[in-house]
This record gives sequence, structure tokens and C-alpha cells, in this order.
Amino acid sequence: MRIGVMGGTFDPIHLGHLVTAEAVRHRFGLQQVVFVPTGRPPHKRGNDVSSAEHRYVMTFLAVLSNPEFGVSRIEIDRLGYSYTFDTMLALGEMYGPDCELYFITGADVMRDIHTWHRAPELLTLCHFVAASRPDYTLCERFRQGGHIHLVEVPAMAISSTDLRRRVRAGEPIRYLVPEAVENYIYEHRLYLNGAR
Ligand code: NAP
Repeated sequence: MRIGVMGGTFDPIHLGHLVTAEAVRHRFGLQQVVFVPTGRPPHKRGNDVSSAEHRYVMTFLAVLSNPEFGVSRIEIDRLGYSYTFDTMLALGEMYGPDCELYFITGADVMRDIHTWHRAPELLTLCHFVAASRPDYTLCERFRQGGHIHLVEVPAMAISSTDLRRRVRAGEPIRYLVPEAVENYIYEHRLYLNGAR
């Protein structure tokens, strides 16, 4: 069995994330992709991130209609900072030794994977798939690792940062996020005037 683990802040989740998960699922023959919203990202201490519950619910709404996608609270419910090492170790134990795990996230953040918590051990736990925006070039060090697959996803031209800016500026986000996520953002007045 092969399972994808889609790690991200998802603030908010958007169609670029969903297209990425589907492209990786197809390319690597994954049976399931589990989205794992971060609980307390270690590299964002002090930064303004929406509550874990808002990000979890938006992710849940976004994947609800696809039986090959799921969402996990593993990082949200764990105390302390969200380290990918802890997550992949726990998921590896949960799915068992016959399961191959593929950790999927953005190429910008995965570029620094050698600085992550327990990086040498993490690199032995699973495969890594870095999703890049169009025209992204990988640095040499990244290529040399050999553990990390790069998948270019044109739909990742959409970005959560731009979506938050759009909401603040009163610009449309329709067709950039699933309709249920759009409704949730407006209903809960997320991203307005910096309010979360
Ligand atoms: P981020 O800094 O919010 O995002 C970095 C870039 O990657 C952004 O361009 C972002 O686009 C993109 N991105 C994020 N998640 C993506 C995904 N699943 N698919 C495609 N593109 C994605 O990154 P983050 O969300 O905090 O971290 C990403 C993952 O790496 C999380 O699971 C996090 O826990 C893990 N991580 C672990 C450690 C550690 O263990 N020490 C350190 C850093 C990151 P959008 O803004 O549009 O999403």
C-alpha cells in the first residue's frame, strides 16, 4: 500500500493543493492522500496563522467529496510544535511496515528539509515529493539528495498568501478555493483586516 501525506498550513486550502494531491496520487500510484494541517509550525513561531480548528475544518470541507482524500488531526491534537518527523513516525506505525508513505509539500519549504527536526532520520522514513510552482528551479544540493521527487504543478500559481490578500482587499476568491471553503471564509470573517 502507498499513502500520500499532504503536509501544509492550509491557511486557506485552495485548488492548487487539491490539484497537487491528485497529480501526485496519480503519478506514484497512491491509494489515499491524507491531508495533515499543521498544528503549531516550528518555523512560524510568533507569526500570525489562523486557528488550527479553522484550518482543519476548511481542509475537511475541501476533501469531503473525494473518497481517495482524507484529513488527519494528528498534528492539531499533538501538544507542542508540529515536527514532520513525529508525524511520519506515528503514521508509519499506524499503517504498518507494508505501507510506503509519501510526504508531499511545497518545494520552497522542502528545500530546507536538511534543517528540519531529526532530518537524517526523517529522510529514511518515507519518500518526499516537492510540489513546485511553474518555472521553479531546484538548487543542486536538493537534487543530490536523491530522496526527493519534484512535481511541477501549474495550478500552484494559486497561493494562500495571495488568497488572504484578496479577501482583505475585497477581491474575488471564487474558483480559486472550493465553494464550501469560500463560504466558510466569509461566514467566519477570516483574513479581514489581519483578523484570523
Ligand atoms: P509554508 O511556509 O506555509 O509554505 C511554503 C510554500 O510551500 C508556500 O509556497 C506554500 O504555498 C507551499 N505549500 C505548503 N504546503 C503545500 C502543499 N501541501 N502542497 C503544495 N504546496 C504547499 O509551509 P508550511 O505549510 O508551514 O510547511 C509545509 C509542511 O512542511 C508542513 O507539513 C510542515 O509541518 C512541514 N515542515 C516541517 C518542519 C519540521 O519538521 N521541522 C519544518 C518546516 C516545514 P501555499 O501558501 O499556497 O500553501
